[in-house]
Amino acid sequence: MSTHNNAITNTSESPFVKLKSINFGDCRWTNGFWADKENAATQIMLPYMGDVLCGDIGHGLNNFKIAAGEKEGEHKGFYWHDGDFFKYMEACMYIYSLTKDEKLLHKLDEYIEWIGKAQEEDGYIHTHIQITEGAERFSNRKYHEMYNYGHLFIAASVHFRLTGQRNFLDIAIKQADLLCIYFMPDTTHYQRFGFNQTQIMGLVELYRTVRDKKYLKLAEKFINRRGTFKIEHHSTTEGYPIGDMVQERTPFRESEEAVGHAVLALYYYAGAADVYAETGEKALIDALDKLWENVTGKKMYVTGAVGQAHYGASTSLDMIEEGFIDAYMMPNMTAYNETCANLCNAMFSNRMMALKEESRYADIIELVLFNSGLSGISIDGKEYFYSNPLRMVNNSRNYDAHADVTESPVRQPYLECFCCPPNLVRTICKSSGWAYTLSENGVAVVLFGGNNLKTTLLDGSAIKLTQDTDYPWKGIVKITVDECKSEAFDIKVRIPKWAVGSTLKVNGEVLDFDVVPGQFAVITRKWTAGDEIILDMPMEVKLIEGHNRIEEVRNQIAVKRGPIVYAIETPDLPKNTSILDVYYKGGTELKAVHKEDFLGGVTVVETELLLREDKKEEMYQTISQPVWKSYKTQLVPYFAWSNRGQAEMTVFLPILWNN
Ligand SMILES: [Zn+2]
Repeated sequence: MSTHNNAITNTSESPFVKLKSINFGDCRWTNGFWADKENAATQIMLPYMGDVLCGDIGHGLNNFKIAAGEKEGEHKGFYWHDGDFFKYMEACMYIYSLTKDEKLLHKLDEYIEWIGKAQEEDGYIHTHIQITEGAERFSNRKYHEMYNYGHLFIAASVHFRLTGQRNFLDIAIKQADLLCIYFMPDTTHYQRFGFNQTQIMGLVELYRTVRDKKYLKLAEKFINRRGTFKIEHHSTTEGYPIGDMVQERTPFRESEEAVGHAVLALYYYAGAADVYAETGEKALIDALDKLWENVTGKKMYVTGAVGQAHYGASTSLDMIEEGFIDAYMMPNMTAYNETCANLCNAMFSNRMMALKEESRYADIIELVLFNSGLSGISIDGKEYFYSNPLRMVNNSRNYDAHADVTESPVRQPYLECFCCPPNLVRTICKSSGWAYTLSENGVAVVLFGGNNLKTTLLDGSAIKLTQDTDYPWKGIVKITVDECKSEAFDIKVRIPKWAVGSTLKVNGEVLDFDVVPGQFAVITRKWTAGDEIILDMPMEVKLIEGHNRIEEVRNQIAVKRGPIVYAIETPDLPKNTSILDVYYKGGTELKAVHKEDFLGGVTVVETELLLREDKKEEMYQTISQPVWKSYKTQLVPYFAWSNRGQAEMTVFLPILWNN
């Protein structure tokens, strides 16, 4: 039996996973970027979110108290608010595991008690249905029962692994057993359920926790049924778009294109990857390969964000919301890019990396974490973006017209639709669990950041590593072996695809093999304590251009340094400049400068941009000689934009080559 049963996703016994998860807590961030973020999550993000969700601003805990019959009131918040609360709880569990702060454990016990009291005799929990007069369980998939259960099963599994307590797990098992009773039989009414399908991941994780095969079977059923019914409305689908919007036009195994709501799609794909991890069915991995290539190769922004449109159509012309549209159709200003979708992209890639043992998947994880994931929260850790566009122009939309602001020019302290904030905070809290994985005879370095790793290889031998680095601001990563077995084993070091020209040294000697960007460099040798690996990644500022089929960025460039994508925003421009009048002149110097006291400590890119001063009054006019003004300024990391008041911002800038 493996000893790695306490991972975020427990793949220790998963027969088709090549890179196994480390136990959560085996890697600790010690200093630098992720240590700072984890610290901010512990000190600020999590307590602040707890106050919101357990008070009267958010309604997470109140809904459970009302459902338990111990508080008066109506259900508040969206149908999926229970799921938001479970994600917040999961974040608390990671921090409890790292800090052993008893107060957090007691808080969790208190929440679990309320959830237990709210749970009905037969196992059912869903506070909206329970509290709302006339609402019936499993009557319509739009109520997101499955979504809430997915997060419940995952949080309860993590809770059991990190605390050893069964109180939450028992609640989850009771609910999962009820789900099996309703959804295992092939009864017409229940066939198209599975809206926002986190339940697939959740059921697989529960299977991994308690080893009851029926949960895996049910997870598989939710995949098998998709796309096998006529696309027409049914009593269980009314009130929400059907077809591609919910990935039900094409059976999973025949899918080649990412369609519909981006969060729904990516949770579904991540769930299918979990099922494949246990069953090894070829048709599943073939479809997963195609879907991953389609998402990351044809529908993803330079920031790792996904979900190009708030409203639109699929390529089969089904109406879609908050999701994928055509390949290479990448609007900047109106990009939706829900924080959850971006994080799901990382979750999907994390699973694919484990299945395929390939480092290119980790490039996407990193891209999301440093850019379109982290942009979802303010530097002070208290305000959130739901959508993460690549360009913001003031007064282009009336963002106040809808109360549930999912699109906003500034981050908000509370979002009525509260799915993204706890999703992001739990990701920060668990990031150390993603930093390393275990291969057949060794360990793979996935994320860079100051940390200590203390774990065992898959053969049970102890290994300790120390990672020292100022990444992502500097490109040198030093990995020291502190303890290991005497026999030879592999240390696999991820060479990011962007890190062209990287060198690897062991104990001062350059390795005599090609260091290939986008792959793991596999160093196999007999290691001894004190051995030192140095990865040196060149951190030049680079100009990035899009594929020529992306018409929205033709003749434009984005600025990137290492994994960090940059943006220019109006606080760094003369007053009253529109972001749309800013150009970059090819060849102009781009200089990285670290500013410790700016935006929480970031490296900016100093440069000189051109501002077009002649104004165009009409929508179209005969071309005229432009009037330029040169302006010395700086670009800031995309994740750190909008922390200096309301601003205009753009990632892509038009480039002038010849003047
Ligand atoms: Zn969300």
